Amino acid sequence: MAKITPNIILLGAQGSGKSTQALLLAKKFDYEWIITGSLVRKAIKKNDANSKIIKKYVDKGKLVPNKIIFKNIYEPHLKKINKSKGIIFDGMPRNLSQMKTFHKLLDKLEIQRPILLYIEIPDDIVYKRILSRKICPKCDRAYKPGDKSYEKNTCKVCNKKLESRTDDKDKSALTQRLSIFHKDTKKIINHYKKNGLLLKIDGTPSVEEVNKNILKKLENFKK
Ligand code: AMP
Repeated sequence: MAKITPNIILLGAQGSGKSTQALLLAKKFDYEWIITGSLVRKAIKKNDANSKIIKKYVDKGKLVPNKIIFKNIYEPHLKKINKSKGIIFDGMPRNLSQMKTFHKLLDKLEIQRPILLYIEIPDDIVYKRILSRKICPKCDRAYKPGDKSYEKNTCKVCNKKLESRTDDKDKSALTQRLSIFHKDTKKIINHYKKNGLLLKIDGTPSVEEVNKNILKKLENFKK
């Protein structure tokens, strides 16, 4: 097994390839990988009292309120994970207020605060990638046109029929998600930069190339 590196927040606009890279890192370093968007979608599928409320936010491309996300979704999940492993935080935090709550929660659960890995891509690529992507409803893996599984419309791992996410198909929801990213999420990047905890990666090359660059940056960071 490769040596454990620090806990990592993986940040990037929709379609930056962060989940693909998270999967590669999780495998290589045997990390726990927490995908906030997946937890949210699972919470919707539960069909309980909160599900309808959560769905309303997701369908509009808005963030689920902090009270719901931390108390009902994030904290219960964090308590269950294997803390002896490194953790990749995907989709959390998304703004400065969420970052403060997130840091407090990590401190409370005695989980090491992470570094931030930011995968940068321009907006025109975001639209191109997201409006056409499909995901597996079971494992959340994303596929793009040209992938064998995309053309077969079947997940290569779960064998499930692929779907388009409602918030991906809707251009205005996507614009809303992107504007949240530019307005709020980027402030988190500045915070980590100020503290010397930012690794920035160009997300436009191939998956393999981006992965190579991430590993190089992580390696240099440890030195
Ligand atoms: P994603 O799969 O990361 O694009 O997230 C899908 C949706 O889940 C978002 O548009 C939000 O509605 C919700 N969501 C994901 N992460 C968070 C978060 N950290 N805080 C609040 N809502 C979130």
